[in-house]
Amino acid sequence: MDLYEYQARDLFESYGVSVMRAQTATTPAEARQVAEELGWPAVIKAQVKTGGRGKAGGVKLAKTADEAEELAGQILGMDIKGHTVHRVMVTEGADIAAEYYFSILVDRSERQYLAMCSRSGGMDIETLAVERPEELARVGINPLVGIDEAKAAEIAAAAGFDEADRPALEAIFQKLWEVFRDEDATLVEVNPLIKAGDGSMIALDGKVTLDENASFRHPAHEALADISAVDPLEQKAREMGLNYVKLDGNVGVIGNGAGLMMSTLDVVAYAGEDLPGHPRPANFLDIGGGASAEVMANGLSLILSDADVKSVFVNVYGGITSCEQVATGIVQALALLGERANKPIVLRLDGNNAAGGRQVLRKARERLAGVVVVATTMDGGARMAAQLAAGTATVEDLRDAPEGKN
Ligand code: GDP
Ligand code: MN
Repeated sequence: MDLYEYQARDLFESYGVSVMRAQTATTPAEARQVAEELGWPAVIKAQVKTGGRGKAGGVKLAKTADEAEELAGQILGMDIKGHTVHRVMVTEGADIAAEYYFSILVDRSERQYLAMCSRSGGMDIETLAVERPEELARVGINPLVGIDEAKAAEIAAAAGFDEADRPALEAIFQKLWEVFRDEDATLVEVNPLIKAGDGSMIALDGKVTLDENASFRHPAHEALADISAVDPLEQKAREMGLNYVKLDGNVGVIGNGAGLMMSTLDVVAYAGEDLPGHPRPANFLDIGGGASAEVMANGLSLILSDADVKSVFVNVYGGITSCEQVATGIVQALALLGERANKPIVLRLDGNNAAGGRQVLRKARERLAGVVVVATTMDGGARMAAQLAAGTATVEDLRDAPEGKN
């Protein structure tokens, strides 16, 4: 989860990192009021989860209350790389003597963390890394040690900072490491990290990415989630503990295991290529290995509530859980859903005790009439689901077709 700049700023402040005084606003009038409280000049900054706001006109200096209100009016509603600005952060203006760059990230290839630091901050780091790589220091961090005094000194030396600036920088590097470690972040980036006129070091901009896999030990992180930016179905899926991603097609897809799920998406997209309207997958939904009736019912009800979905393809490979259990789960799930199971569903079971699974479905055949078609292969099932979505076949057509023989 990426944080907004104002959230990163508040987090930094709580760890003792120097930041500018600031407050957010969602209307020009509110921005004016906040700026008046902070004093002049004030800086109005667009709050969007993308970089390069400065270049896009999303960071502006205001010297008077009228100017603050007018600039906030320009920035609110602005589109920055596809992100609409709904909120600005108003900060006191900084007295900038120099702009530096500092970040901590995960270095997967080295299986450790990496600190990057440069005396040339403010500019886009990707550009700096390409055009003047010698100005970007890269220092590996042992995860068990982190950035202690010695490591902080190593980073400051590698970046070539003046002796006089090093103590203040080394202190801020260590505090930013604490943010990274204690919050379970995968990225902490400060660009620019500035030296103010009085020599103090201040984090003027912040980008923080939190590791959602660690959210179970950070109940406070829930409040940072940007619910308005999340698709409502994805939000519902999250509440049900499902691994769901909304896609733009009309064939709902359920699978167990991420690998199977991804290949199912490919097969469905391929099957729909030559059909009218080109049916495509409407979502990714991995219900995991267990595939209990309850999880299946949650998954099906989620997908059936998606107005874009015209048909559903359930592709389950029985591993530890046998197909017989999965099939029993599906029949129970459909019973739980009752009238809500109102779109054609293609089922394909394979793997551990597939024959037993098909037998369970055969026994429920009359109850599943009109809604469910059983397929024996993944390709065949994908083709049927695509045809059902395209409207070139009905459940009744497919039920007794060779591929749909149950
Ligand atoms: P970004 O473009 O999204 O990275 O936004 P930043 O917050 O990094 O701001 C971009 C640039 O605006 C900085 O590199 C600074 O040069 C400038 N800037 C930001 N805040 C202030 C401020 O308080 N005073 C002055 N003089 N310049 C600022
Ligand atoms: Mn920046």
